Amino acid sequence: MAASINQGTVINNIEFAQKALEIHDIIPLLQFTRLQDLLVSQQGKLDCRLSGGRDANNSAYLQLQVKGALPLLCQRCLQPFDFGVDIDLRYKIVRDEAQLPAPEDEGDDEDFLLSQADMPVLELIEDELLLALPMAPRHADDACAIAGGEAAANALKNPNPFARLEALKSK
Ligand SMILES: [Zn+2]
Repeated sequence: MAASINQGTVINNIEFAQKALEIHDIIPLLQFTRLQDLLVSQQGKLDCRLSGGRDANNSAYLQLQVKGALPLLCQRCLQPFDFGVDIDLRYKIVRDEAQLPAPEDEGDDEDFLLSQADMPVLELIEDELLLALPMAPRHADDACAIAGGEAAANALKNPNPFARLEALKSK
């Protein structure tokens, strides 16, 4: 199925699942208007795939996969870095809210969508991206200029005692 995903893309999500349809698109970051304030650059694209089907219990589901990177600002060293995105989520489609599990019964690995004749696809993807973003984005410790500097400084302050022992032995 050749289709692209943009602001106007809507699907009938239950029909999409029942017919096991699929849409796949490489979406420019510019399309995600709610993300713009968080991005240091609008250069880049995300590989997005939405597919439908029925699980072993014959329940209709949607599967969303999003891969790529978001250019964010490291809150520690204030340098831009690529935050890796690898979303792979399955949503069970329910007909009405009565079928939603009570919050205390909801499993961590189960997501739900209400059946909807005109579900905006881009909005679903953007919601998940916003949820995936860290509160304070920053480099991994070994990739951050400032964290790396701190680690090096600590190593100087607290030399490995065994290294000192080795040095004594070799005298
Ligand atoms: Zn950093």
